[in-house]
Amino acid sequence: MKITIVYDNTSRRKDLEADWGFSCLIEARGHRLLFDTGADGRRLLRNMQALGIDPMGVEEIFISHYHLDHTGGLQDFLAVNPVRVYCPASCRPPAGSDAVAISAAMEIHPGIYSTGELAGIEQSIAIDTEKGLVVVVGCSHPGVTEILSAASTFGKPYALIGGLHGFREFQVLEPLELVCPTHCTRHKEEIRILYPGKYVEGGVGTVIDLPD
Ligand SMILES: [Zn+2]
Ligand SMILES: [Zn+2]
Repeated sequence: MKITIVYDNTSRRKDLEADWGFSCLIEARGHRLLFDTGADGRRLLRNMQALGIDPMGVEEIFISHYHLDHTGGLQDFLAVNPVRVYCPASCRPPAGSDAVAISAAMEIHPGIYSTGELAGIEQSIAIDTEKGLVVVVGCSHPGVTEILSAASTFGKPYALIGGLHGFREFQVLEPLELVCPTHCTRHKEEIRILYPGKYVEGGVGTVIDLPD
């Protein structure tokens, strides 16, 4: 499976635009899902183009939560490719879109799970691989500990990718093999220093290739 960060607060390349927000393309188990859409649709589409990602190849969108830095690009993306949108149940999806509201944990495709909407705000996605679950998060508003424990019902988490906000319970990362704390993560440096062997630098253009 492959995860490509297409929208993030930082950028890995000069031709890719950094902006506060998050989005990544998840290619796993025969599916191509866009996780969140960043803050600005034109910037999202420009970054995708620069990364050689055809928006028409995206099958579905998974929205973690309805903060503008994750949903701002949704309308523009749907105007290009009106795919199905999985969104947390407390949110109102764009009118006319093919939206699936998720409240409880569920399997959206074989081996691809939503934790369900946690703390009334945010869902995360977990993908089953031979090494364990790859968990992708938006801002981790419900708390990283809570998200990982919700994901654990589907398997053993082995990778965590996305925004961790003010998360500081670093020992929770101990059992993981890969951590890519990016977007709104305030304590990236502490995580990098504590877990240099697990740490992967985020930013637009980061590609994480993991065994299926
Ligand atoms: Zn947020
Ligand atoms: Zn955010």
